[in-house]
Amino acid sequence: MDITKDKLLEKLEFFSNFKFNKNYNDLTKEEKFVAITDSIMALTSKDWTDQLGKKARQRKAYYFSAEFLIGRSLGNNLLNLGIYDLVNSILEEKGDRIKDIENEEEDAALGNGGLGRLAACFLESAASQGFNLDGYGIRYSEGLFKQFFKDGFQAEEGDDWSSFYNPWSKRIVSDEKIIKFKNQTVKACPYDMPIFGYKNGQINRLRLWQAEAVNEFDFNRFNNFDYDGAVREKNEAEDLTRVLYPNDERREGKLLRIKQQYFFVSASLQDIVSNYKKNFDDKEFKHFHEYVSIQLNDTHPVIGIPELIRILLDEEKISFEDSFNIARKIFNFTNHTILREAMEVWSVDLIDETSPRVLEIIQMIEQRLVEELYNKGFKEEEINFLRIVKDDSIHMANLAIFVSNKVNGVAELHTNILKNETLKDWYGAYPYKFTNKTNGVTQRRWLIYSNMELSDFIDRKLGSNEWREDFSKIKELEKFAEDEPSIREFLEIRKKKKIELTEIIKETTGIDVDPNSIFDVQVKRLHEYKRQLLNALHIVYLYHRLKEDKNFISEKRTFIFGAKAAPAYFRAKAVIKFINEIARVINNDKDIDGKIKVVFLENFRVSLGEKIYPACDFSEQISTAGKEASGTGNMKFMMNGAITIGTYDGANVEIFEKAGEENNIRFGKTVEELMEIKPNYDPYKIYQEDIYIKNALDSLMSGEFKDNESYMFLDIYNSLLKSEGGDRADRYFVLEDFESYRKAQEKISEVYKDEMRFGKMCLLNIANSAYFSSDRTIREYAEEIWKLESHN
Ligand SMILES: *Cc1c(COP(=O)(O)O)cnc(C)c1O
Repeated sequence: MDITKDKLLEKLEFFSNFKFNKNYNDLTKEEKFVAITDSIMALTSKDWTDQLGKKARQRKAYYFSAEFLIGRSLGNNLLNLGIYDLVNSILEEKGDRIKDIENEEEDAALGNGGLGRLAACFLESAASQGFNLDGYGIRYSEGLFKQFFKDGFQAEEGDDWSSFYNPWSKRIVSDEKIIKFKNQTVKACPYDMPIFGYKNGQINRLRLWQAEAVNEFDFNRFNNFDYDGAVREKNEAEDLTRVLYPNDERREGKLLRIKQQYFFVSASLQDIVSNYKKNFDDKEFKHFHEYVSIQLNDTHPVIGIPELIRILLDEEKISFEDSFNIARKIFNFTNHTILREAMEVWSVDLIDETSPRVLEIIQMIEQRLVEELYNKGFKEEEINFLRIVKDDSIHMANLAIFVSNKVNGVAELHTNILKNETLKDWYGAYPYKFTNKTNGVTQRRWLIYSNMELSDFIDRKLGSNEWREDFSKIKELEKFAEDEPSIREFLEIRKKKKIELTEIIKETTGIDVDPNSIFDVQVKRLHEYKRQLLNALHIVYLYHRLKEDKNFISEKRTFIFGAKAAPAYFRAKAVIKFINEIARVINNDKDIDGKIKVVFLENFRVSLGEKIYPACDFSEQISTAGKEASGTGNMKFMMNGAITIGTYDGANVEIFEKAGEENNIRFGKTVEELMEIKPNYDPYKIYQEDIYIKNALDSLMSGEFKDNESYMFLDIYNSLLKSEGGDRADRYFVLEDFESYRKAQEKISEVYKDEMRFGKMCLLNIANSAYFSSDRTIREYAEEIWKLESHN
C-alpha cells in the first residue's frame, strides 16, 4: 500500500466534489471527516479486494460476537496504515487540526462493555499479526443507547450513529442471505468494514448484518389507505437489528433477543458455507474443518451450533453424524462469567418460535450428550445435571461446552473457578477441553494512539519504536525506574494528559478540577458486583472527616466516574443518582476548601475512554473477589501507567503478579475468605460497630443526599442491611471490605506525596504490561485453538 501526499490530496478534492458538490476548503468539519475517510477507503480498496481473493482458499478463523465495541476508526486506521503524520500535516497546511476532525466521528458503540471491546481489540491484534481472523456480528442501527443525566438520574436516548454517513462500511447487496423464522422471513444484508493491520498490509474483514424486509412496501395496502400496514413488514424486519439487548422483561423482548442471535449466526454460517462451496470442490464437506474455525464470544452466538448442523444436514444433505462431528471440530466457546445464573437459558417455546427445526436439532444433540455420558459411566443424576434441555429450557452454555472443541475462561482465576466450581462437572467429563486465555487490549489504540506523548517518550528512552509491534520490548523501560530525569519527564507527560482531561471535564460538566490533584478513576459499566457503591460510600466517609477537619487529607483528590446502567436495572441507576448527588453536595461545599471533587462524566464510551485512561493516577478495580471474570479496563490503565487499587479478582491477580504488589495497592478479602465468611456474614454488625460506616450509610436516609422521592436511596440502604427475597444483605460484601478499602485509600495519599516513588511505581506498571497486550492473547488463540499461521 503506497499512500502518498499527492494521491491523498487528489482524492480529498475528488470526494469533496463527488459527495458534496463543494471544494474541500468549503466543507463542514463533519463533511471533511467523510471526505478523508472516503479517500482512505478508496486508496485501500484495491488491496482489500486483492486480499479477499488471496485469502479465499486459506484457513480462517471467525469471531462470532453479538457485540463489537469499535468506537471511532479514523485515528486508529491512519495509525495502522502508517499515514497518521502525513494526514496530520496535510490538514495542518489546510488550517485544520486532525483532532478536531477525529472528534467529528460518531462512536460505533455496537457493544455494552468489556466483552464487546475485547472483540474489537482481538480483530485489530489479529490483523496486525497477520492472522486471518474475520468478525461476524450485527449492525445495530441504534447501538446500545446514549446516556445523559437529568436531575442526576440516568436518562437514555437512541444512538443513531450511522445516520449521517458511515463511510467505513460497504454494503454488499449481492451477498444477502435469507433468514427464515417460524413466522417471519427477512433478508440479512452485509456491511463490511476493513480491519487494517499495523503497517503490515493485512486487511481483515468485519461483516455486520442488517435485517431488511423481503418486501419493503405493500402497494395494494397503501392504495387502500392502510398506510401502517403497507410498511409493517419493513418495520418488523428492521426491528430485529435496531438495538443491542432489547429490554427482556417481557416475552416479546426475549423473543426479539433470541431472534437477533439466530439472525446473525444463520447469515454468517450460510455465508461461510456458500464461500466454501464456491472455492472448494468438496460436496461431502470432508475438508471443511481444515479451513474453518469459529470462536463463540459468550453464549449469544451459541445457537449457531445447531444452525450449522441444520444447514449441513437439511441443505447440504450430510448425515447428522457427520454434521455433528464437523461442528465439534469447528466451534470453540469463550465463557465470560462466573455466575451460573448469568448464563443464558431460553424456554423451549421461544426457540420453537424462532426455528422449530433448530429446536429438533438441539434435541438430537441432547440425545448424543446423554449417550456419550452414559458410555463414560456417568450416573443418571449426574447426566441430568449436564443436560442441555432441562425443565422446558435450553441451557446455552451446556450446548456450547458439549459441542465445542475448546472452552476457555478469560483470566487464570476465572478459568480456575470455572473448572473447580461453576463448571466442575463439565470439567470432570471433558478436562481436555478447558483452557485459559487471559484477555488483553491492543496497545496501538490504548497507548500508541491514545497517549502519543507517552509513546514518543518510550521511543526516546528505548532508542527505537520496535515495541510498538513487539510489545514484549516494553520491559526495557524498567532501566529508567531509578533515573530521576526520566521520571521527571514522565511525570510531566502525565500532567499534560491530566490537563487535557481537565479541559474535557470543564467543557462537559462545567466543573473545575485541579490537574495537580490525585485523579482517582472508576470507569466501567455500572453493576453491583463492580462496587461503585463502595467507592461512593468511601467518598462520603472522607467528606464527613473533612467536615470535621479540613486537613484530614493532605493531597487534593478528584474522583472521576463514568458508567452506563442497563435501562431496566433500578439499583444500578440508584447508584448513579447517589454519586451525582454526592458530587453536587461536595463540589458546592465551601467548608472543605475544594479538597475533594467528584465528577461523573456522561455517556462513557470508547472515545471518552481514550482520554480518560491516560489521565489517571489510580485505577479503581474494586469488584467483589470472584465476580469479575477478567476486566480489561484495568489493563488499559496499567499500560498508561496508572496504579491499580484493586481486589484480588480477575486479571488484577495477574497484574499484581507481573508488576509486583509493591507497585500497586491491593486490598479486600480473597475468594476463599469470602466463602468462609458467607454463611455467618452480618453486615448490620459492621454498621453498628463503626460510626463512620454508619454515618456514611445513614446519609442515604437522613436527607443529606436527596433522591427526589424516587426511593432509590432507600433501595440502596436496604440492599446493604436487609435480606430480601432470598438475597442476603450486602451480597457483594461492601461493608466487609470497607475497612480494608479505607486503608488502601490512605495509602494513595502516601504514595502520591513522594513524587519519585510514585513515578517509579507508574513506570514499572507500564514496563510490565506486555503480557496484557491482546497480541499475546491472539497468538495463544491462534496457536492453540484456531491453528492459524501468521502471514506477516
Ligand atoms: C475497556 C472498556 C470497558 C471494560 O471496562 P472494565 O473496567 O474491564 O469493566 C467498558 N467500556 C468501555 C467503553 C471500554 O473501553
